[in-house]
Amino acid sequence: MTTSTGDETIDMIETQTTTIKQQQSSAPIEYDAIIIGAGAGGISALLHLRDLGLRCRLFESGGGPGGAWYWNRYPGARFDSESYSYGFFFSKELFQEWKWSEHFAGQPETERYFNYVIDRFDLRRDMQFKSRVDKAHFNDEKNAWDVTLADGTRYRGRWLVAAVGPLTKPQLPKIDGIESFAGEAYHTARWPKHPVSFEGKRVGVIGTGASGVQTIQEVAKSAAHLTVFQRTANYMAPLGNGPVTDEEQEQIQASFEELKRKVNSSYAWFLHTPDQRSIFDVSDEERERFFEEKYNARGMGIWQGNFRDILTDRRANDLISDFIRRKIRERVKDPETAEKLIPKDHGFGTRRVPHETNYYEVYNQPNVTLVDLKATPITRIVPQGVQTSESFHELDMLIYATGFDAITGAFEAIDIRGLGGQKLDDKWIDGPSTYLGVMTAGFPNFYMPAGPLSAQGNIPRTCEYNAWWLAELIRYMQAEGLTYVEPKPEAEEEWTEHARQVQSTLLTSEVDSWFTGVNRNREGRTSRRVVQYRGGAFIYREKCEAAVRNGFPEFIKK
Ligand code: NAP
Repeated sequence: MTTSTGDETIDMIETQTTTIKQQQSSAPIEYDAIIIGAGAGGISALLHLRDLGLRCRLFESGGGPGGAWYWNRYPGARFDSESYSYGFFFSKELFQEWKWSEHFAGQPETERYFNYVIDRFDLRRDMQFKSRVDKAHFNDEKNAWDVTLADGTRYRGRWLVAAVGPLTKPQLPKIDGIESFAGEAYHTARWPKHPVSFEGKRVGVIGTGASGVQTIQEVAKSAAHLTVFQRTANYMAPLGNGPVTDEEQEQIQASFEELKRKVNSSYAWFLHTPDQRSIFDVSDEERERFFEEKYNARGMGIWQGNFRDILTDRRANDLISDFIRRKIRERVKDPETAEKLIPKDHGFGTRRVPHETNYYEVYNQPNVTLVDLKATPITRIVPQGVQTSESFHELDMLIYATGFDAITGAFEAIDIRGLGGQKLDDKWIDGPSTYLGVMTAGFPNFYMPAGPLSAQGNIPRTCEYNAWWLAELIRYMQAEGLTYVEPKPEAEEEWTEHARQVQSTLLTSEVDSWFTGVNRNREGRTSRRVVQYRGGAFIYREKCEAAVRNGFPEFIKK
């Protein structure tokens, strides 16, 4: 199977060999803070900590900045929250300089943006690419983190910022025979840099989440035949993308403060936030008009900006689910295919809603087949293709759009040990527990932007906010002459319990997906758990800001 990134792997080996020779036997190189990851979280942390005068070193396994947006270069990869709500807000100048070409930018533009940002703020000199962190152990004696890279080089830092991202560790499906496939095989989150052509090929895509949907829309344009293997049907809604006109550009540039206020005061850091009315406050006609308007508008409004009760009240949820089902039936010509595309086991918005551009119309094309894996599961992958319980699909290429080992996967990929050598994996064996989603007891000076149980949604916004908060914590510690901080266990328990309670009020809590920590491709991950804070970004911010105001009372500080 060729799910590699080609040149990247070779480059990484070369860099590693040189640095091993230079540093293997010497003492660790010391910094004030070691940051893992050059996505939005790592970049934000580096900016803030450098401003505080900390000597920082950032390690990133990829060949450039962007995190998820570096690796997810699959065809059609693009934002589905508005570009100008997704970029950084820490600098008004930056916001006004960068002109997004589309309302929902594609991956190449996003990658250019991240490169622009790190050069604009001279961050590159503190960043080290193609450098994978293997181990991070708290050294009780030194009150610092000892960090070892995959090449054996060693570093030490008082602070460890694990900006590893909630959706970064790719997950291959657990299917017998997967290694035997003889054709081209790719995972969407490890797409190679070299061009991949679908022209004249029989392509299979496994997975119909946000990555699968975007991939399918592109592959269907040129593949000789595309077979989509769908396990759980998802509700999708139009993205409404388009170029940003000059007039819109001007408007966006002039609206920095307003847009910033909007994302920070919304439920999940998006430009859309729930309408405060109940679905039952309006007449049937008005409701239908409202749905129609949201469905045809740009972005996530139909999901994030709908009536306040669609995600908590089953009767309300039935109304919006029914609306989307009708849309699917209208858009897909073959009624049997339409029925397969309609979710039967969950309501609209209780799983992540992928936003699409002519996704449903793809199934009206003669070169596209939909295979319903609930009815006919895959039994085996063989060198020539995919065998289901009903038929054999001969393929030249197989694309795994099977998502991530979400939320905790990227932490597990590193051997992280806190006080007394306690392993983070062991602590989180029954699910993650944190205080405010950013720190965890027993792991001093260890910080996780957009970590488990943080308020997520528009993830760069969480990252940027969490980095600001970390800077406040460090500023406080500097002023008080402190060098050690970890959450009080009871504060962590309370936060984790609060996150659990909030989740139990949502219909999402009754549905399997990465939102509820379910990953069927991994042993022991079939029951639901709480992995995000769903009480709303504004409530989350209130709690974080109270901690700053009150001198971080929920922490053990030395
Ligand atoms: P995902 O939502 O977890 O979807 C994975 C898909 O693969 C699902 O359809 C899943 O089916 C299927 N699958 C997994 N294992 C399988 C198996 N063994 N056999 C058959 N099917 C299998 O992953 P994703 O699409 O990569 O998206 C993850 C998240 O990344 C999104 O929810 C979103 O937050 C983010 N994302 C954002 C953007 C954007 O901003 N535009 C784009 C892409 C992704 P089941 O549902 O049955 O498990």
